[in-house]
Amino acid sequence: MPSPVTPSASSTPVATPSPSLTPTTTPTAKPTQTASSSPSQPAKPAADKRKGRQLDKPYTVDGVIVVSKAHRVSATYGPPHPTGPYHLDATAARALAKMTAAAKKAGVRIVVRSGYRSYATQKAVYSRALRNYPSEASAKAYNAPPGASEHQTGLSMDLWDGVTWSLPMANTATGKWLHKHCHTYGFILRYPKGKQKITGYNYEPWHFRYVGVDVASQFPTSNTLTLEEFLGLA
Ligand SMILES: [Zn+2]
Repeated sequence: MPSPVTPSASSTPVATPSPSLTPTTTPTAKPTQTASSSPSQPAKPAADKRKGRQLDKPYTVDGVIVVSKAHRVSATYGPPHPTGPYHLDATAARALAKMTAAAKKAGVRIVVRSGYRSYATQKAVYSRALRNYPSEASAKAYNAPPGASEHQTGLSMDLWDGVTWSLPMANTATGKWLHKHCHTYGFILRYPKGKQKITGYNYEPWHFRYVGVDVASQFPTSNTLTLEEFLGLA
């Protein structure tokens, strides 16, 4: 998640958040609504009690890796099979190549702005953000401290058209295409609008996370569901 707000680029329009557009639906059914069948409330995942060397491996729920401010990893953790110029996880890289090719066919250009980031790189990114952002709060709303960045998994990437960055990216042909089709290729929009309290991050229309087609296809294409909610962590 590199700087969405570049202090020097004052021409970058600031999109107005529209919380009213965000439906407050929850995937959990109320037990009272289904008297005959058991409620579809997901089982509460096991608590993350990792510490010390256990942080060399990420926290997972049903095989899905979760790296966030609440579920951190050590400096030694990284994708087991990094590949290509962005050192992405091999499976994620293949899915991205497929998605990029499909977009190209539709006349849409997908460019990777950021892929895998090591703990050390993230440390530098974070310090720079704390120095350059207008406030500490805004720096932390868009940037993960080292060990808390999903980019360290090699499963995440920041995508754009190579021209329009930050929040306006959402309204580019690339942003619109990705938001509509990413699930087909196994990706989800990881930090949806209005879910800051759950994800720990502001809306990031550019940050995509590979979770595989099985999981991604269960996400609404409206991009209103977080991974935390899906896994029963929120
Ligand atoms: Zn990112």
